[in-house]
Amino acid sequence: MKAVFASRNRHKAEQVAILLPGIHLISVDAVAPDLQLEEPWDSFRANALAKARAVAAVSGQPAIADDSGLEVDALGGAPGVYSARYAGEAATDRENNAKLVAALSDVPEHQRTCRYRCVAVMVTPDGREIAAEGTCEGRIIDEGRGLLGFGYDPHFVPLGERRTMGEIPLEAKLVFSHRGRAFRDLAQRLGMTSQTAADPAE
Ligand code: IMP
Repeated sequence: MKAVFASRNRHKAEQVAILLPGIHLISVDAVAPDLQLEEPWDSFRANALAKARAVAAVSGQPAIADDSGLEVDALGGAPGVYSARYAGEAATDRENNAKLVAALSDVPEHQRTCRYRCVAVMVTPDGREIAAEGTCEGRIIDEGRGLLGFGYDPHFVPLGERRTMGEIPLEAKLVFSHRGRAFRDLAQRLGMTSQTAADPAE
C-alpha cells in the first residue's frame, strides 16, 4: 500500500516510516511541493484531518498525517496545538524551549507535569477517515540534555525515566512515545500490525 505523508518534518517522517513498515510512504514534496499544510484549528484531530484531507485531494492518493504537541499542566495545557509556533510563527526549537523554561520559572519541579499528544490519521481520496491518538506523560526540566529527537525533547523527561527524550535512542523511544502509541493504534485500525515493540501497558 502507498500513502503520502502530509508533513515536511523529517523527524516525524523517519519515525512514521519505522512505525508503518507495511506502507510505502511518499513525501508530500514529491506530489504537492507548493501545498501549504495549514493547521488552523484548535484540536490536534481537526488539524491532522485538515492536512491529510488537503493532501489526499491534491494527490488523489491516501494521505497520512500527524498533529502533535506538548501540553503542560501548570500552563493550562499550553503550548498544545501551538507547540511548533509557541514563540512565534517561524520560531526555532531553541526559541520555543527558551519560552517554555521561562514560563515555568516559578513552577516547582513536582508541578511541572506534562504530556506529549499525537493524533495520527489516514484519509483516502474517496473520503474514508481513520484516526488514532497516543499520549506520553512526563515532566519539564530547566536544563536541556541530549541531541536526539527534536522540538521539546531535550527538556522532556518521560514518566519513569531519568533520561530526557533527547537522550533516548529512537527505537527505544517509539515503544512508549505518543507517536509510537498513536501510529501502532492507527496500524491496527487499518488491519496491519506495526512491527515495532509496544509498551506492555498498551
Ligand atoms: P506539528 O504537529 O507539525 O504542529 O508540530 C508539533 C510540534 O510539537 C513540534 O514542532 C514540536 O515542537 C512539538 N512536538 C511534537 N511531537 C514532538 C516530539 O516527538 N518531540 C518533540 N517535540 C514534539
